[in-house]
Amino acid sequence: MNVLITGASGGIGSAAARVFADHNYNVIINYNKNEDAANALVEELAEKGVKTLAYQADVSDEKQVDMMFCKAEKKFGFVDVLVNNAGVAQQKLFTYFDTEDYNRIFDINMRGTALCSRRALKSMIREHRGKIVNVSSMWGVCGASCEVLYSAAKGAVISFTKALAKEVGPSGINVNCVAPGVIDTKMNANLSADDLDVIREATPLGRTGKPEDVAELIYFLSSSKADFITGQIITVDGGLTI
Ligand code: NAP
Repeated sequence: MNVLITGASGGIGSAAARVFADHNYNVIINYNKNEDAANALVEELAEKGVKTLAYQADVSDEKQVDMMFCKAEKKFGFVDVLVNNAGVAQQKLFTYFDTEDYNRIFDINMRGTALCSRRALKSMIREHRGKIVNVSSMWGVCGASCEVLYSAAKGAVISFTKALAKEVGPSGINVNCVAPGVIDTKMNANLSADDLDVIREATPLGRTGKPEDVAELIYFLSSSKADFITGQIITVDGGLTI
Protein backbone atom coordinates (compact mmCIF):
# COMPACT_ATOMS: atom_id res chain seq x y z
CA MET A 1 0.00 0.00 0.00
CA ASN A 2 1.20 3.50 -0.81
CA VAL A 3 0.48 6.82 0.88
CA LEU A 4 1.34 10.31 -0.29
CA ILE A 5 1.51 12.84 2.55
CA THR A 6 1.84 16.53 1.73
CA GLY A 7 3.87 18.64 4.13
CA ALA A 8 5.48 15.53 5.57
CA SER A 9 8.62 17.51 6.50
CA GLY A 10 6.61 19.13 9.32
CA GLY A 11 5.27 18.03 12.71
CA ILE A 12 1.95 16.33 11.96
CA GLY A 13 2.93 15.16 8.46
CA SER A 14 6.15 13.52 9.69
CA ALA A 15 4.30 11.84 12.56
CA ALA A 16 1.73 10.50 10.09
CA ALA A 17 4.54 9.19 7.84
CA ARG A 18 5.96 7.25 10.80
CA VAL A 19 2.59 5.69 11.65
CA PHE A 20 1.97 4.63 8.03
CA ALA A 21 5.49 3.17 7.82
CA ASP A 22 4.82 1.22 11.05
CA HIS A 23 1.89 -0.33 9.16
CA ASN A 24 4.13 -1.21 6.20
CA TYR A 25 2.97 1.52 3.81
CA ASN A 26 5.43 2.90 1.30
CA VAL A 27 5.51 6.64 1.95
CA ILE A 28 5.85 9.53 -0.48
CA ILE A 29 7.09 12.43 1.63
CA ASN A 30 6.15 15.74 0.05
CA TYR A 31 7.96 18.85 1.27
CA ASN A 32 8.32 22.40 0.08
CA LYS A 33 11.38 24.05 1.65
CA ASN A 34 12.69 21.76 4.36
CA GLU A 35 14.70 19.28 2.31
CA ASP A 36 16.89 18.30 5.29
CA ALA A 37 13.89 17.22 7.37
CA ALA A 38 12.44 15.27 4.43
CA ASN A 39 15.74 13.48 3.75
CA ALA A 40 16.20 12.66 7.44
CA LEU A 41 12.70 11.14 7.48
CA VAL A 42 13.50 9.06 4.39
CA GLU A 43 16.50 7.59 6.18
CA GLU A 44 14.51 6.97 9.35
CA LEU A 45 11.65 5.22 7.53
CA ALA A 46 14.01 3.15 5.37
CA GLU A 47 15.16 1.49 8.60
CA LYS A 48 11.60 0.26 9.08
CA GLY A 49 11.94 -1.61 5.77
CA VAL A 50 9.45 0.38 3.70
CA LYS A 51 10.08 2.21 0.42
CA THR A 52 10.11 5.99 0.60
CA LEU A 53 10.53 8.95 -1.69
CA ALA A 54 11.07 12.58 -0.69
CA TYR A 55 9.63 14.91 -3.30
CA GLN A 56 9.78 18.70 -3.38
CA ALA A 57 6.61 20.28 -4.71
CA ASP A 58 4.60 23.36 -3.88
CA VAL A 59 1.10 21.92 -3.45
CA SER A 60 -0.46 25.11 -4.80
CA ASP A 61 1.28 24.65 -8.17
CA GLU A 62 -0.68 22.44 -10.57
CA LYS A 63 2.32 21.34 -12.65
CA GLN A 64 4.44 20.48 -9.64
CA VAL A 65 1.58 18.46 -8.15
CA ASP A 66 1.12 16.54 -11.40
CA MET A 67 4.85 15.80 -11.66
CA MET A 68 4.91 14.61 -8.03
CA PHE A 69 2.08 12.11 -8.65
CA CYS A 70 3.67 10.94 -11.94
CA LYS A 71 6.92 10.25 -10.10
CA ALA A 72 5.12 8.54 -7.20
CA GLU A 73 3.04 6.34 -9.51
CA LYS A 74 6.09 5.41 -11.58
CA LYS A 75 8.07 4.41 -8.51
CA PHE A 76 5.34 2.80 -6.38
CA GLY A 77 2.22 2.35 -8.52
CA PHE A 78 -1.25 3.30 -7.33
CA VAL A 79 -1.42 5.89 -4.54
CA ASP A 80 -3.94 4.24 -2.19
CA VAL A 81 -4.07 7.10 0.30
CA LEU A 82 -3.64 10.85 -0.03
CA VAL A 83 -3.17 12.93 3.12
CA ASN A 84 -3.62 16.64 2.40
CA ASN A 85 -1.66 17.93 5.36
CA ALA A 86 0.47 20.81 3.98
CA GLY A 87 -0.64 24.09 5.48
CA VAL A 88 0.39 27.51 6.65
CA ALA A 89 -1.11 29.78 9.30
CA GLN A 90 -0.68 33.46 9.98
CA GLN A 91 -1.71 35.51 12.97
CA LYS A 92 -2.62 39.09 12.18
CA LEU A 93 -5.55 41.42 12.69
CA PHE A 94 -7.88 40.90 9.74
CA THR A 95 -7.70 44.59 8.74
CA TYR A 96 -3.90 44.26 8.38
CA PHE A 97 -4.02 41.40 5.89
CA ASP A 98 -2.89 42.14 2.32
CA THR A 99 -3.60 40.31 -0.91
CA GLU A 100 -0.33 38.43 -0.75
CA ASP A 101 -1.25 37.01 2.69
CA TYR A 102 -4.70 36.11 1.40
CA ASN A 103 -3.34 34.26 -1.64
CA ARG A 104 -0.70 32.38 0.33
CA ILE A 105 -3.14 31.15 2.98
CA PHE A 106 -5.83 30.08 0.54
CA ASP A 107 -3.43 28.75 -2.10
CA ILE A 108 -1.60 26.38 0.22
CA ASN A 109 -4.41 25.31 2.57
CA MET A 110 -7.32 25.07 0.12
CA ARG A 111 -6.02 25.17 -3.47
CA GLY A 112 -3.29 22.66 -2.56
CA THR A 113 -5.89 20.30 -1.10
CA ALA A 114 -8.04 20.61 -4.24
CA LEU A 115 -5.15 20.15 -6.71
CA CYS A 116 -3.70 17.11 -4.94
CA SER A 117 -7.15 15.53 -4.50
CA ARG A 118 -8.06 16.02 -8.17
CA ARG A 119 -4.78 14.46 -9.29
CA ALA A 120 -5.10 11.52 -6.88
CA LEU A 121 -8.72 10.93 -7.93
CA LYS A 122 -7.71 10.36 -11.57
CA SER A 123 -6.35 6.97 -10.56
CA MET A 124 -8.67 6.35 -7.58
CA ILE A 125 -11.80 6.65 -9.72
CA ARG A 126 -10.32 4.28 -12.30
CA GLU A 127 -9.44 1.78 -9.54
CA HIS A 128 -12.77 2.32 -7.74
CA ARG A 129 -10.97 2.64 -4.39
CA GLY A 130 -8.87 5.05 -2.38
CA LYS A 131 -8.89 7.22 0.71
CA ILE A 132 -8.33 10.95 1.10
CA VAL A 133 -7.78 12.54 4.51
CA ASN A 134 -7.70 16.32 4.72
CA VAL A 135 -6.15 18.24 7.59
CA SER A 136 -8.27 21.22 8.58
CA SER A 137 -8.22 22.85 12.03
CA MET A 138 -10.54 23.41 14.98
CA TRP A 139 -10.41 27.06 13.90
CA GLY A 140 -12.02 26.01 10.62
CA VAL A 141 -14.93 24.75 12.73
CA CYS A 142 -15.31 27.56 15.27
CA GLY A 143 -13.23 30.48 13.92
CA ALA A 144 -10.27 32.20 15.58
CA SER A 145 -9.75 35.88 16.27
CA CYS A 146 -6.56 37.13 14.55
CA GLU A 147 -6.63 34.07 12.27
CA VAL A 148 -9.65 35.01 10.18
CA LEU A 149 -8.23 34.00 6.81
CA TYR A 150 -6.71 30.78 8.16
CA SER A 151 -10.06 29.91 9.76
CA ALA A 152 -11.85 30.65 6.48
CA ALA A 153 -9.42 28.56 4.42
CA LYS A 154 -9.69 25.64 6.86
CA GLY A 155 -13.48 26.05 6.87
CA ALA A 156 -13.33 25.71 3.10
CA VAL A 157 -11.38 22.47 3.50
CA ILE A 158 -14.23 21.19 5.70
CA SER A 159 -16.94 22.01 3.12
CA PHE A 160 -14.71 20.58 0.40
CA THR A 161 -14.46 17.32 2.34
CA LYS A 162 -18.22 17.02 2.83
CA ALA A 163 -19.03 17.80 -0.82
CA LEU A 164 -16.29 15.66 -2.36
CA ALA A 165 -17.26 12.71 -0.17
CA LYS A 166 -20.75 12.84 -1.69
CA GLU A 167 -19.41 13.10 -5.22
CA VAL A 168 -16.86 10.28 -5.11
CA GLY A 169 -18.52 7.95 -2.59
CA PRO A 170 -20.26 6.08 -5.45
CA SER A 171 -16.77 5.52 -6.92
CA GLY A 172 -15.71 3.67 -3.78
CA ILE A 173 -13.60 6.50 -2.38
CA ASN A 174 -13.70 7.81 1.20
CA VAL A 175 -12.97 11.47 1.96
CA ASN A 176 -12.63 12.56 5.57
CA CYS A 177 -11.12 15.39 7.54
CA VAL A 178 -9.31 15.83 10.82
CA ALA A 179 -9.57 19.12 12.69
CA PRO A 180 -6.71 19.38 15.18
CA GLY A 181 -6.68 21.70 18.18
CA VAL A 182 -3.43 23.14 19.47
CA ILE A 183 -0.66 20.69 18.58
CA ASP A 184 3.03 20.97 19.55
CA THR A 185 4.65 21.72 16.20
CA LYS A 186 6.65 24.58 14.79
CA MET A 187 3.40 26.15 13.60
CA ASN A 188 2.81 27.09 17.26
CA ALA A 189 6.40 28.05 18.04
CA ASN A 190 5.29 31.67 18.42
CA LEU A 191 2.99 30.90 21.38
CA SER A 192 4.39 32.17 24.69
CA ALA A 193 4.58 30.06 27.85
CA ASP A 194 1.65 32.10 29.21
CA ASP A 195 -0.43 31.46 26.06
CA LEU A 196 0.25 27.74 26.39
CA ASP A 197 -0.78 27.77 30.07
CA VAL A 198 -4.09 29.41 29.16
CA ILE A 199 -4.69 26.81 26.46
CA ARG A 200 -3.88 23.91 28.79
CA GLU A 201 -6.21 25.30 31.44
CA ALA A 202 -9.02 25.59 28.87
CA THR A 203 -8.46 22.02 27.68
CA PRO A 204 -10.40 19.36 29.61
CA LEU A 205 -7.62 16.83 29.00
CA GLY A 206 -5.14 19.34 30.45
CA ARG A 207 -2.48 19.42 27.77
CA THR A 208 -1.72 20.45 24.22
CA GLY A 209 -1.72 17.80 21.53
CA LYS A 210 1.19 15.82 20.17
CA PRO A 211 1.61 15.30 16.42
CA GLU A 212 1.14 11.58 17.10
CA ASP A 213 -2.38 12.24 18.49
CA VAL A 214 -3.38 13.53 15.06
CA ALA A 215 -1.31 11.02 13.11
CA GLU A 216 -3.11 8.04 14.65
CA LEU A 217 -6.50 9.48 13.66
CA ILE A 218 -5.28 10.15 10.12
CA TYR A 219 -4.11 6.55 9.89
CA PHE A 220 -7.37 5.19 11.26
CA LEU A 221 -9.40 7.14 8.67
CA SER A 222 -7.13 5.75 5.94
CA SER A 223 -7.44 2.18 7.07
CA SER A 224 -10.01 -0.48 6.22
CA LYS A 225 -11.44 0.00 9.74
CA ALA A 226 -12.91 3.27 8.42
CA ASP A 227 -14.39 1.78 5.25
CA PHE A 228 -17.94 2.95 6.16
CA ILE A 229 -16.91 6.44 7.29
CA THR A 230 -16.95 9.31 4.81
CA GLY A 231 -17.61 13.05 4.73
CA GLN A 232 -16.75 13.36 8.43
CA ILE A 233 -14.88 16.08 10.28
CA ILE A 234 -13.27 14.71 13.42
CA THR A 235 -11.71 17.07 15.94
CA VAL A 236 -8.66 15.99 17.91
CA ASP A 237 -8.28 18.78 20.44
CA GLY A 238 -8.46 17.38 23.97
CA GLY A 239 -11.94 18.87 24.30
CA LEU A 240 -10.70 22.47 23.98
CA THR A 241 -13.47 25.01 23.47
CA ILE A 242 -12.36 28.62 23.22
P1 NAP B 1 4.42 22.56 10.38
O1 NAP B 1 5.33 21.77 11.26
O2 NAP B 1 4.68 24.00 10.16
O3 NAP B 1 4.31 21.80 8.98
C1 NAP B 1 3.73 22.39 7.85
C2 NAP B 1 4.11 21.54 6.67
O4 NAP B 1 3.48 22.12 5.51
C3 NAP B 1 5.61 21.53 6.40
O5 NAP B 1 6.01 20.22 6.07
C4 NAP B 1 5.76 22.44 5.19
O6 NAP B 1 6.83 22.06 4.33
C5 NAP B 1 4.44 22.16 4.47
N1 NAP B 1 4.15 23.19 3.49
C6 NAP B 1 3.97 24.51 3.67
N2 NAP B 1 3.74 25.13 2.51
C7 NAP B 1 3.78 24.16 1.55
C8 NAP B 1 3.62 24.15 0.16
N3 NAP B 1 3.38 25.27 -0.54
N4 NAP B 1 3.73 22.97 -0.51
C9 NAP B 1 3.99 21.82 0.17
N5 NAP B 1 4.16 21.77 1.50
C10 NAP B 1 4.05 22.93 2.18
O7 NAP B 1 2.94 22.52 10.96
P2 NAP B 1 1.99 21.35 11.43
O8 NAP B 1 1.42 21.79 12.71
O9 NAP B 1 2.63 20.02 11.32
O10 NAP B 1 0.83 21.51 10.33
C11 NAP B 1 0.31 20.44 9.54
C12 NAP B 1 -1.13 20.71 9.22
O11 NAP B 1 -1.90 20.73 10.42
C13 NAP B 1 -1.39 22.08 8.55
O12 NAP B 1 -2.36 21.93 7.55
C14 NAP B 1 -1.94 22.92 9.69
O13 NAP B 1 -2.74 23.97 9.24
C15 NAP B 1 -2.73 21.87 10.45
N6 NAP B 1 -3.00 22.21 11.84
C16 NAP B 1 -2.01 22.38 12.75
C17 NAP B 1 -2.32 22.71 14.06
C18 NAP B 1 -1.29 22.91 15.12
O14 NAP B 1 -1.65 23.33 16.23
N7 NAP B 1 -0.01 22.63 14.89
C19 NAP B 1 -3.67 22.85 14.44
C20 NAP B 1 -4.67 22.67 13.48
C21 NAP B 1 -4.33 22.34 12.20
P3 NAP B 1 8.30 22.75 4.36
O15 NAP B 1 8.61 23.01 5.82
O16 NAP B 1 9.16 21.72 3.72
O17 NAP B 1 8.22 24.00 3.56
